[in-house]
Amino acid sequence: MEATSTAPGCPSCGRSMTGTAMVLARREEDGRRVCRGVWQCSDRHLWWRWSDRPDEPWEVCPHPERFGA
Ligand SMILES: [Zn+2]
Repeated sequence: MEATSTAPGCPSCGRSMTGTAMVLARREEDGRRVCRGVWQCSDRHLWWRWSDRPDEPWEVCPHPERFGA
């Protein structure tokens, strides 16, 4: 656990990621409207994750044309 940094590491290459967007979406699973945080590493891997579920694994963001840097 990194106590001094909140930047997550890329699940694919391990580089640190920076947030690029917050997306509000309806989650099919429980019908709630929840924000997804979109993060990208310096090798341009793009991931997102429900902001209220930080313990869940990253999912590949399927919209690089919208959220990628
Ligand atoms: Zn990466």
